[in-house]
Amino acid sequence: MISVLSGLYVGSVCDAMDIQSLQVAGITHILTIDNSELKDLHHSFQKKFIQLLDDSSADLLSCLPECLHFLKDALEKKGSCVLVHCHAGLSRSPAVIAAYLMNTTRCTFEEAYQRLQDKKPDIKINEEFVNQLAIFEEMGCDVDISSTSYKQYRLKKLTQKYPELKKVPRDVFACDPDSLNHSKDILFRCRKCRRSLFRAGSVLNHALGDGPAAFAHKKMPLKDLDPAKCTSFFVEPVQWMEDVLLGVLDGQLLCPKCNAKLGSFNWYGEQCSCGRWVTPAFQVHKNRVDEVKPLTIHGR
Ligand SMILES: [Zn+2]
Ligand SMILES: [Zn+2]
Repeated sequence: MISVLSGLYVGSVCDAMDIQSLQVAGITHILTIDNSELKDLHHSFQKKFIQLLDDSSADLLSCLPECLHFLKDALEKKGSCVLVHCHAGLSRSPAVIAAYLMNTTRCTFEEAYQRLQDKKPDIKINEEFVNQLAIFEEMGCDVDISSTSYKQYRLKKLTQKYPELKKVPRDVFACDPDSLNHSKDILFRCRKCRRSLFRAGSVLNHALGDGPAAFAHKKMPLKDLDPAKCTSFFVEPVQWMEDVLLGVLDGQLLCPKCNAKLGSFNWYGEQCSCGRWVTPAFQVHKNRVDEVKPLTIHGR
């Protein structure tokens, strides 16, 4: 068990079972990020268990708010001391502590990693978690579930989790704008029949890459990104697409009212005309839709 900053320790499952050392260090809280929960030996500790594998399918990012909440809550209390541990203390627990450092000190992932490595040179955060922490950094060192980065990330994770694509959670589908009476958002309608298809908030901008590419990207001059080169909007799935998308790998997207061809989808990704690969891809050709600005309400 190693102290990474005042009141915060990182360690393995063995460290978490070593009651004597825990007591000597004054540990009051234990955050377990592992496949299985700690055996209930330590009644005097406040504990939190997050079930997470240390592999490429694991969704660390979505667990971070809960971890950060526990850590902040614990470290705010005077005299409290937290051990964050996983199985070996090399990947999952350092990843969570890196997120904590990024969130509380607004440092970059690289800085957080360096700080951890200075204290514990053998840490080795798995590549998938590094990618997820890059997205975390992109979101301002927090998890913003309404952000494009998070939506795109979540969709990608879904395709890994449900390769048969039949049990995709319903809340993945954005509300059908056609079922709303008023929209404060810009709407996109079918050019042919004017049915509302999606809100501007559903457009998943792919200007930023993902994972390590996102780090590299920040160093790229912005002029290299020309949205005019993108002839399609990549959007999050919308409710009217549900029947077409579930259980099917790829296909066409047709207007639910007039059947006009709007674009295509592929859960495993498609390339945008600008060259960027987007996974998964639900694309609507820009020349098949019209943008409609919300009406200003008079008399109020
Ligand atoms: Zn593009
Ligand atoms: Zn139509």
